[in-house]
Amino acid sequence: MAEWSARARREGLSVGFVPTMGALHQGHLDLIARARQAHPRVVCSIFVNPLQFNNLEDLERYPRQLEQDRAMLQEAGCDALFAPQAETLFADLQPHTYDLGGLDGHWEGPSRPGHFQGVVKVVERLFHFVRPDEAFFGEKDRQQLTLLRHIARQEHWPERIIACPTMRAVDGLALSSRNARLSPGERDQATILFKALTVAARMAFKHPVEEVDRAVKDALQAEPTVTLDYFGIADHDTLEPLKDWGDRDLAVALIAAQVGPVRLIDNITLVR
Ligand code: AMP
Repeated sequence: MAEWSARARREGLSVGFVPTMGALHQGHLDLIARARQAHPRVVCSIFVNPLQFNNLEDLERYPRQLEQDRAMLQEAGCDALFAPQAETLFADLQPHTYDLGGLDGHWEGPSRPGHFQGVVKVVERLFHFVRPDEAFFGEKDRQQLTLLRHIARQEHWPERIIACPTMRAVDGLALSSRNARLSPGERDQATILFKALTVAARMAFKHPVEEVDRAVKDALQAEPTVTLDYFGIADHDTLEPLKDWGDRDLAVALIAAQVGPVRLIDNITLVR
């Protein structure tokens, strides 16, 4: 794969990269379209990374559909697919713990011990094999994006990290490979996550943070079978939880909840 990218660069063609875990949907295809716009060569990877799962059942049940994904990538004009085996990807992996700068101290971090170390390790490996110029990541996984930007700076990774907006279904539910595991009833209930985030977006900067927090939790009562893991408002750049708005013009509201068999996450940018 590195040779493929090197050849492209020798021909003066830059390489855009979209790492995924497959079961592709419109959100992934949007990342590929953005990579396409910026680069004459685009690579997508599909690898269900065991290191970032802290729940064996979630790993085993994660949807896998390589042949369908391959067809979707062809249709999307993706030039190459990198779908490595774990043994290849992690062959010469040295044990290493990344300094995540405390960015894993909130939100997904406490709920998923080891998750972000696993994410950083796999992205480092994928970059090692693919050697792209730029890599495209979704804001859907906001904390992952923040953390990868931090690590890329800290570790002097040459690859640039590009943020892409969250693609949603018409009713607001953020597209996710895990949505495929929801029953029709659960799929309807899941829209409460986006509804809660829009309550926050409407009230942000006009009401105290604590009041927004209360209103969101009230809104979530509409779906008592959806179990909230966390909701909170955070600094836009560091994702530190906020107690007041201060003089900032941007913030983020983040949510995670269990809907039926699936844990879903979402977030929204709050603008003054
Ligand atoms: P995944 O396959 O879930 O690991 O996601 C691969 C990439 O697609 C990550 O950068 C995600 O943030 C991004 N992604 C997932 N869902 C969406 C979405 N609904 N909109 C935009 N990007 C997404």
